[in-house]
Amino acid sequence: MMAGTMTTCRACKRENLYLFLPLGMHPPANAFVRPGETAGERSFPLDTYACLNCGLVEVPDQIPPDFFRNYLYVPSASEAMHAHFAELARTLKGRCLLKPDDLAVDIGCNDGLLLNSLKGLGVRTLGIDPAANLVALARAKGLEVVNEYFTPQTARALRERYGPAAVIVTTNTFNHIDDLHAFVAAVTVLLGPDGTFVIEVPQALEYVRGLEFDTVYHEHLSTFSVKSLVELAKFFGLVVTDVEPLPIHGGSMRVFLRQAGAGADAVARDWVTREQQAGLFDRTTYDRFAVEVRTSRDKTMSLLRRLKGDGNRLVGYGAPAKGNTLLNYYGIGPDLLDYLADRNSLKHELLSPGMHIPICAAERILAEQPDYVFILAWNFADEIVRQQDEYRRRGGQFILPIPELRVIR
Ligand code: ZN
Repeated sequence: MMAGTMTTCRACKRENLYLFLPLGMHPPANAFVRPGETAGERSFPLDTYACLNCGLVEVPDQIPPDFFRNYLYVPSASEAMHAHFAELARTLKGRCLLKPDDLAVDIGCNDGLLLNSLKGLGVRTLGIDPAANLVALARAKGLEVVNEYFTPQTARALRERYGPAAVIVTTNTFNHIDDLHAFVAAVTVLLGPDGTFVIEVPQALEYVRGLEFDTVYHEHLSTFSVKSLVELAKFFGLVVTDVEPLPIHGGSMRVFLRQAGAGADAVARDWVTREQQAGLFDRTTYDRFAVEVRTSRDKTMSLLRRLKGDGNRLVGYGAPAKGNTLLNYYGIGPDLLDYLADRNSLKHELLSPGMHIPICAAERILAEQPDYVFILAWNFADEIVRQQDEYRRRGGQFILPIPELRVIR
């Protein structure tokens, strides 16, 4: 845990950070609370910085160290994530990165969705995750999972026991890590000499383009530019050999890294040029971003208040972590949204952190037919609107806050 201010970029280690979006005090975005236990809730300042050298968008790490030991995000709840991990396994096979009996490691494996797909390739698999509740879910599927944080020490022990890894994958985990240098040092310990390190992370280019201010919060410490990964990799003799843009989580990317000399870096150079052209290293880009976020908040709040004032019934769809960033920053509470409907039963009967909106099963929407559904899981908006087709057919309407306020009739 460090203090609330930041001076050094966690990727490139330069001191060229710009605080462009102070969002106020927020409880940790995944710290859902039980009714009656809201008194002990803790909040921390949420300040978003941009590194004007490498384009990493980052917030200081302020969460107590054992927070992730019991984690509520379970990707298996989403159909889109099932399809995504199956595609990732096919991609690794298609690129010939894995031969039979090779070791594939998933760091931050969650409940084992990707490991299951990797197992289907006939390779040896190993998962690592600090959250005991998720490790139990993965082990129940017959998967080999180590319940640890990934450190150089853990990596040495794993290499002794399982041998070097041909592929190390980490999806939507790298962005949770404060000490990126220790993490990559651990990767270099476990990875074999011809191995590939594959990272899936939210992309700064999409963050800026899509006004995705809510995707950076106390647990999602960083949104990456390609340049930030190139600069980070340099410290460890690694190079970025390829980048694939991904539509998940509102715009992510899959980045392939190998030992220097193992591949050309022309792809990475093209991406960095694109990032430069998009203004990712310019202060003015972030000034404009902050103004747009505030304008979007004002528009959304006046719409919600007007609809509510007219006697409409409003509810939220999805209780994702980023939704809590938006709810807390905009100031949307149970006075505006009666409840948040979510398919993840682990969250049912809990309250959203900070604003304390109750969370319940998605079926309640059809049962009660509210007038408007405010979509917080906006990256799954298509999937949600499709699933709630019956609600819409009966005249229900959706409100989408990001990237631009929109009512779907
Ligand atoms: Zn940097």
